[in-house]
Amino acid sequence: MKYIIIGAVAGGASTAARLRRLDEHAEIIIFERGEYISYANCGLPYYIGDVIKDRNRLFVQTAASFNRRFNIDVRTLTEVTQIDPKNRIVTAFKQSTGKVYTENYDKLVLSPGAEPIRPSLPGINSEGIFTLRNVRDTDVIKNYIGQNDVKTVVVIGAGFIGVEMAENFHHLGLQVTIIEMINQIMAPVDFPIAALMQQHIRSKGVQLRLNTTVTGFTRDARGLGVTLKNGEILYADLVLLSIGVRPDTRLAEKAGLKIGAAHGIVVNEYLQTSDPDIYAVGDAIEFKNPISGRSMITYLAGPANKQGRICANNIVLGNSHSYHGSVNTAIVKVFDMTVATTGMASKHLKAANIAHIVSTNHAGSHASYFPGSRRMSIQIAFSPNNGRLLGAQIAGYKGVDKRIDILSSYIQQGRTIYDLAEFEHAYAPPYSSAKDPVNMAGFVAENILSNRLKVFYWHELAGLKPGDLLLDVRNPDEFLSGSIPGAVNIPLDEIRARLPEIPTDKNIRIYCEAGLRGYLAQRILKQHGFDSVSNLSGGYVSWKACVAESENEYHFVS
Ligand code: FAD
Repeated sequence: MKYIIIGAVAGGASTAARLRRLDEHAEIIIFERGEYISYANCGLPYYIGDVIKDRNRLFVQTAASFNRRFNIDVRTLTEVTQIDPKNRIVTAFKQSTGKVYTENYDKLVLSPGAEPIRPSLPGINSEGIFTLRNVRDTDVIKNYIGQNDVKTVVVIGAGFIGVEMAENFHHLGLQVTIIEMINQIMAPVDFPIAALMQQHIRSKGVQLRLNTTVTGFTRDARGLGVTLKNGEILYADLVLLSIGVRPDTRLAEKAGLKIGAAHGIVVNEYLQTSDPDIYAVGDAIEFKNPISGRSMITYLAGPANKQGRICANNIVLGNSHSYHGSVNTAIVKVFDMTVATTGMASKHLKAANIAHIVSTNHAGSHASYFPGSRRMSIQIAFSPNNGRLLGAQIAGYKGVDKRIDILSSYIQQGRTIYDLAEFEHAYAPPYSSAKDPVNMAGFVAENILSNRLKVFYWHELAGLKPGDLLLDVRNPDEFLSGSIPGAVNIPLDEIRARLPEIPTDKNIRIYCEAGLRGYLAQRILKQHGFDSVSNLSGGYVSWKACVAESENEYHFVS
C-alpha cells in the first residue's frame, strides 16, 4: 500500500506515525510546504515571549528523526498543488528546485490545517503587521522585535491566540493594547466568565478596548497607525492580527471534495471525505457537534491528533473506528488566571435553540483552611428537561485544568448534573474540599431543577421593579465595602430574628458574595412562607465583574 499525507504537523504527523505502527511495509510519504514538521504550534506564543527560551524545544520531531524512527519519506518545503482523485495522483511542487512532479497513492490523507484571516483593509500590508500560525511567522515576529525598538503592541482580536500573545508581549516588557470588535474577549465563553478574565487582564496594565472595530492601517512619521471606526488612530510599533482562522480547503475544493455548511471538508464518522480513498483530519474538517448536532469546525490540537490516530486505524484496518466529534474543550493561561471551556456556551445554545439553564458558583480550589486556596468560578449550562450537562466554563487560579477535564468527560458521555453531584474525587485539603467545586456545581444545578433554588441573573437586576426587594445577606463589613445599588442589608445569620422587617408582598431578590449564603437565606424565607424569593446566580462577584465590564468599553487600570 502507498499512503500520502498532506500536512506534517498536528493531524498529519500523528496520522503518519500511526500508519507506520499499523503497517510496517507500506510506503508512506508526507508532504509539508513549510520547513518544519511536527512542531509545537501551541508553544509558539511562549517562545516569542521568552518563556520557552530554547527554539529547539519547539520541535517534537525533525524530518530526519521522523524518517529514522518511522521510515517515512518526509518531503518538506514541498507543496501539493493538485489532487486528481479519479486517477489517485497528487501533483507536488518542490520549492527549492521549482520541480513539479506527481505521486500516485492508494489512500490520501489531508491535514492542511487552517490559515489566519487577513482582511483586505487599507494599509494591511504595512510593515510591522503580523499573523501567527507557524514557525516562520514566529521567527519573523521575534526577529522584528529584536531588530526594531518595539515598545508598543496592538493585538487585534482577543481569542485564544490574541490573549496568549498579549500576555507574552507583556512578559517582554512591551506596552500592550488589545482591540476586540465584540463586547467581550474570548468568544467561546459567556460574558460572566469573560468579564472576570477582562478584569484580570486590565489589572495587569494591558489596555483592553472592546466594541472597537479596526478600519485600516497607516504608516507615517509617527509610526504604524491602527485606524478605528470612530476615526481615532492608535500608534504601535507592532500589530498582531489574531482575528481568527479559516479552514484551508483550497486543495480539497479543487479536487471536487464535498465542502460543508461550516466551510470545512465534510467527512463521515470514519473521517473519510466524499471520495472513499481520501481521508481528512484536523482544522480543515467539519463534523457534527455532539451537543447541537450541527456541523462545525474545531480548531484544537487535541482533536487533530486524536483524529489522526482514528483515521490511520480506519485506513489500515478498514472503517471500524468511529469519531464521535469534539465538545471543544479548551484552556488558556491569562497571566495568573486560567480560563477553560467545554461543551457549548449559553449564547451558542441560545442561537441553536437548545433549552438550557445556566448556573454559576464560586468555590475554593481546595479547602479554605489550607494555605493557598483560590476562588474558582464555574458556570454550567444544563437541560431543564433531564439535567444533561451541555456546557461548562471555569475561571480560576488553581486546579482549573483538572475540573474542566472532568466536566468535559461528563459532557462527552452525555451525563447529567445529577452525576456531577455524585462525582467521586480524590480529596485531601491541599487538593480539593470534601465537596469538590464540581460537586458544588452539581448540587446547585440539582437544587434548581428540584425547585429548591430559584435563580436570577446579573443582567436582570437592571429591570428591578419597584415591587422588588433586593436583599444583601452578607455581613455588614462586606456590605459597606461595596453593594448593589438599592440593596438592603440583613446578614444571613440575623434573618430568622429579623423576619418581620421583610415584606411578604414583594419579590425578594437575594444576593451574597458567591451564591451559597443567598441560597441558605432563600431556604429560610421559603420555609417561612415567603413565596417569591430568588437568588443571584454567581452572587456579588459575578455581578460586580459583569457590571464593571459592561460599562467598560474602554477602561485602563495601571
Ligand atoms: P496544522 O497543525 O496547522 O498543520 C497543517 C500543515 O499543513 C501546515 O504545516 C501546512 O504548512 C501544511 N500544508 C497545508 N497545505 C499544504 C499543501 N498543499 N501541501 C503541503 N503542506 C501543506 N490548540 C490547542 O488545542 N491548544 C493550544 O494551546 C493551541 N495553541 C495554538 C497556538 C498557536 C499560535 C496556533 C497557531 C495554534 C494553536 N492551537 C492550539 C491550534 C492547533 O495548533 C491546531 O488546531 C492544530 O495544529 C491543527 O492541526 P492540523 O494538522 O489540522 O493543522
